[in-house]
Amino acid sequence: MNQEIKRAIVIGSGPAGFTAALYLGRANIPPLVFEGQQPGGQLTITTEVENFPGFPEGIDGPALTQKFREQAARFGAEIVTATVDAVDLSARPFKVVVGEETHLAQSLIIATGSSARWLGLPEEDDFHGKGLSACATCDGFFFRDHEIAVVGGGDTAMEEAIYLTNFAKKVTVVHRRDELRASKIMGERAMANEKIEFAWNKTVKKMVGDENGLLEKLILADTQGGEDVELPVTGCFIAIGHIPNTQFLGGQLETDENGYLITRPDVTATGVEGVWACGDVQDHVYRQAISAAGTGCMSAIECERWLGEQDL
Ligand code: NDP
Repeated sequence: MNQEIKRAIVIGSGPAGFTAALYLGRANIPPLVFEGQQPGGQLTITTEVENFPGFPEGIDGPALTQKFREQAARFGAEIVTATVDAVDLSARPFKVVVGEETHLAQSLIIATGSSARWLGLPEEDDFHGKGLSACATCDGFFFRDHEIAVVGGGDTAMEEAIYLTNFAKKVTVVHRRDELRASKIMGERAMANEKIEFAWNKTVKKMVGDENGLLEKLILADTQGGEDVELPVTGCFIAIGHIPNTQFLGGQLETDENGYLITRPDVTATGVEGVWACGDVQDHVYRQAISAAGTGCMSAIECERWLGEQDL
């Protein structure tokens, strides 16, 4: 056990985690940050970030992450490339288990984000940034006048399909059943949109690229036993849900029915005193780099005040 008791440990390294680390560092509480195996979270799979203020020319996700990281380190954050396996929140100082090591901290900021659920097709990895995305707000702009598919039948799929009609020539929603999971109002809105078509009872069997490796078409299987069909699209947005990364918490913090951490209204405090949560692990609504950075800042300020009140 590493007996030093840190005043704050940040778990996660997207915009939320690094912003929290930056604010803590500047408040003279340089945190230990566990950044996982690959810093940046969802930003690492984004084509280009054009909606983070301050970068009028746009910036790619990994480069933006590197800037967040450098800025946090500049103010003393100690950043460790390792994944947290477990935490013990039953008593303070809290325990943070990383492999064989256990670290102690008076306070914790959880910023582990969420992971987009993917279909699990072997060729999926080849098409990231080449037509395949899980975020219409991030990447929709690159598909002006394209024909694209949205996979899924929930509210996210409807929202993404509707949003994408701002750019696309045509959007086909590919859903594995003949009935939507989405709320009635969202479903009706999508069905009323003349740019949106539905491919019912279909799943994506295969993604096919052109000679440059860019997505060219999908092969759809029929869940009712009918023939496979081809869907020529140059964009495919997967909207089959997100999985908040909370497994390492072992159920010690309250979550909603979809697994997102619950924070108290208007603040980022969790139900355990001394533990805050920010970014996509507690936000299923906005899911933007800038909103994650915003809640990271909130967590750090709340944490700093709490440590002060506790004379820590
Ligand atoms: P959901 O879990 O609600 O929907 C996921 C959809 O993806 C379902 O239609 C499901 O099909 C389909 N799906 C899941 N796995 C696969 C797979 N392997 N292959 C093909 N299809 C698959 O997730 P959402 O992200 O849509 O929504 C999450 C939560 O957020 C919900 O509570 C939703 O209401 C909420 N939300 C609300 C919004 C709003 O109010 N504006 C906007 C966005 C989300 P099936 O139906 O057959 O299970």
